[in-house]
Amino acid sequence: MSAALVESERDAQNAAYRCVVRPGEPWVREIRKGAYLRIVDLEGNQAVDTLFYNARDYSDRYSAQDTIREQRNIYLTNGTRLISTAGNTLMTIVADTCGRHDTLGGACAAESNMVRYALEKRYMHACRQSFLQAIVDWDHGMDKRDITHNINFFMNVPVTPDGRLTFEDGVSAPGKYVELRAEMDVLALISNCPQLNNPCNAYNPTPIEVLIWDEQDR
Ligand SMILES: [Zn+2]
Repeated sequence: MSAALVESERDAQNAAYRCVVRPGEPWVREIRKGAYLRIVDLEGNQAVDTLFYNARDYSDRYSAQDTIREQRNIYLTNGTRLISTAGNTLMTIVADTCGRHDTLGGACAAESNMVRYALEKRYMHACRQSFLQAIVDWDHGMDKRDITHNINFFMNVPVTPDGRLTFEDGVSAPGKYVELRAEMDVLALISNCPQLNNPCNAYNPTPIEVLIWDEQDR
């Protein structure tokens, strides 16, 4: 896949909202239809585990399967429409200076830390715990069952010609970003990955910046 890198037309100075999210921290916010969300990989090769929901009905949520089938490609990049389980377009990627994002690798969890790395890694902090913490703080009745397929922005998980899934060194770099337009009112839930065992982030989790432009700020 060789999607062209596309820069945003929006100026960070005009953003209605900016927030630096430290590694290991969750972030949750509603994004109104027509608004733009940018995620900046401040130091490079960070994995940003992200979930999207229809803000009016959390059971209608991001579906990796529907998204992959509709675009006939396993990687997410500029032009990708993020499709929900009910077939709605939640977000569209409108700018991408990294070029490839994963939606096959899933989020790290205490269980996967143990299986993939070592028994004693079980108790290390993981994205699944960050997501659970975020939905408890959000306090809108979501529970564990709402944490399903996710996107790993900036994470490099290539699939080999014979179908093997491989976790590789990151392809992102400091300042690379991805930008999405909300096609409906969406709830965005991010875990800025705390993982210390994966080469995707060079074993060094780093901060990201999240920016939002409301429709009137465009
Ligand atoms: Zn993670």
